[in-house]
Amino acid sequence: MTEPLLRVKDLVKRFPVTGGLLKRVVAHVHAVDGVSFELAAGETLGLVGESGCGKSTTGRCILRLIEPTSGEVWFEGRDVAALGRAELAALRRDMQIIFQDPYASLNPRMTVGAIIGEALIIHGLAKGRRAFEDRIVELLETVGLNADHARRFPHEFSGGQRQRIGIARALAVSPKLVVCDEPVSALDVSIQAQVVNLLEDLQEKFGLTYLFIAHDLSVVEHISDRVAVMYLGRIVELASARELYTTPLHPYTEALLSAVPIPDPTLKRTRIRLQGDVPSPLNPPSGCHFHTRCPIARQDLCSAEAPPLREARPGHWVACHLRG
Ligand code: SF4
Repeated sequence: MTEPLLRVKDLVKRFPVTGGLLKRVVAHVHAVDGVSFELAAGETLGLVGESGCGKSTTGRCILRLIEPTSGEVWFEGRDVAALGRAELAALRRDMQIIFQDPYASLNPRMTVGAIIGEALIIHGLAKGRRAFEDRIVELLETVGLNADHARRFPHEFSGGQRQRIGIARALAVSPKLVVCDEPVSALDVSIQAQVVNLLEDLQEKFGLTYLFIAHDLSVVEHISDRVAVMYLGRIVELASARELYTTPLHPYTEALLSAVPIPDPTLKRTRIRLQGDVPSPLNPPSGCHFHTRCPIARQDLCSAEAPPLREARPGHWVACHLRG
């Protein structure tokens, strides 16, 4: 079997919460609680869950934008956690991120050309002014903008255009892996499909690998080869997109899917409404984190023991005592 591009094993991230006059650590937010998955070169893995489930933190830990508490992240066979500063800086060429908020992620005082060109300068990727300018124009055109846009400032663009600028910035260093952190959540629905289509085209053109983070299953359905569903810091189901959408095993996935609109008006899906809100990651429920909201929970078992993520069918993983 070929080595995956990315391997994440037992990733944990806890954020300390301080309190009192002495600012002592009084608790921890359990943001990511033992996440493991692999990503093959050229693949797109959708990572889905409600806000606060740890999906963005997972993405940031992989890139070491934040330091994991424990666990392993291997990229092309190298242990990302063990890299020193210089090696990590070099690795940043291979692993890029597209942020959720195209309004906040671009420096308002820099021109678009300077924003996109920054990484070219940092990594020494354009020799001479002419090559630098040509590369910026090439990147702008790649994402559907044009040369004139290089001289303008972010506030002169719509949300969709700003996200294109963010994509051009990520592409500037010719990365292999791009973490797309809810790249369309802040955009109008009419613009979302355009940006997703652009990302698909770019993947084909440049052989990119995506970790595509989203909070609802409808966004990742068409772009993902496989989908992982997260709940309170843990992956509860992971399968090929087709299998997850047609035969979900986990009750939480079923509830998320029931909220996805079906284009065919003759087909109807019964909406599963979960009781209550997602519990606080400061004090997650014992056993299966989902047992406080699960419609089929067996409280004696589910509140006592955390179900492991196991392969119920070939390539279809689920963490549930009663399913699979
Ligand atoms: Fe529901 Fe129990 Fe399965 Fe968790 S382990 S999803 S609580 S049935």
